[in-house]
Amino acid sequence: MTSAWERVAGWLASGRLPHAVLITGRAGLGKGLFAEALAAGLLCQSPSGPARACGQCRSCGLLAAGAHPDLVRAEPAEAGKPIKVDQVRAVVGALALRAGLGGRKVALLLPADAMNRHAANALLKTLEEPPGDTVLLLVSHAPGRLPATVLSRCQRLVIAPPAAGPGQAWLEAQLPGAGHARPAAARLLDLAGGAPLAALALARADGLESFSRVERDVAGILSGEVEPLEAADRWRASGVALACRWSYRVAGALLRAAYDPPGSGAGAPGAASGRLPVRLLVQVMDRAVDTLRAIEQGAPLNDQLAIDRLACAWAEVGHARGPSGAAPVTTLEQRP
Ligand SMILES: [Zn+2]
Repeated sequence: MTSAWERVAGWLASGRLPHAVLITGRAGLGKGLFAEALAAGLLCQSPSGPARACGQCRSCGLLAAGAHPDLVRAEPAEAGKPIKVDQVRAVVGALALRAGLGGRKVALLLPADAMNRHAANALLKTLEEPPGDTVLLLVSHAPGRLPATVLSRCQRLVIAPPAAGPGQAWLEAQLPGAGHARPAAARLLDLAGGAPLAALALARADGLESFSRVERDVAGILSGEVEPLEAADRWRASGVALACRWSYRVAGALLRAAYDPPGSGAGAPGAASGRLPVRLLVQVMDRAVDTLRAIEQGAPLNDQLAIDRLACAWAEVGHARGPSGAAPVTTLEQRP
């Protein structure tokens, strides 16, 4: 697969560098860092390779000092806040000016999906007819949140997770306890979908431990040995978001196992005994996704209730499985 840098090199070699690039890929891959490096490379006066900043020239010096006249950026005032229309107007205005160093001008929108509707509208004309030699770099792990009018005017550049080797080596170097770190790093990367920064964040949030806890408790709920609300109490320790992520993952594994031919040895918890009701597994996944979406959108959420409901959705799976999992379970309504 062509790497993002190789694609940029291809654009430059053919003289077809897009005026607007949407840098996408899952969260935790370092897309923002890539965009910063690309911006530096596009502004550099004597690049050491295609869009590779030399770190020595006047442009690179001004960037390092945070005083480059031809780089403009729009970021939320704080995480979770929107990029406002005034910020985008400032970017548009700066791009219309002559370049201070006489070369290219670059705009960074970090993350672009933080633009509210007015802000996105204010950017449209510039995306359509960018003034002079300008490049807009829009970064987003959730491009679906951008209006179609913005998406259709951008060339996509997808950042793929690094190959397992380098990603794991980097992660191991960040984890405490060299020697024991290897299996942990591999597992964390797997849980984070191959994204090293996300895997490191998981490590710091005791991600492995919370995943094992959910996996164990789900097996217990399905076999009737664990009360769902008792499991919910444990899941609260690592927060509602991880409870949802891990439930989604375990349900996905069970769903795959349910479709696997018998004896194929799919090692999902609780899959071995009894048939799992696919519809109810999907229901668990839906519930997890809905809750995660609410969290991302900053919607008001009762964490305790959300986790209780998730655990009870699991209990329904166990209930419906029939005699092998027929131990009575407490439902949410019966909670004192
Ligand atoms: Zn340079």
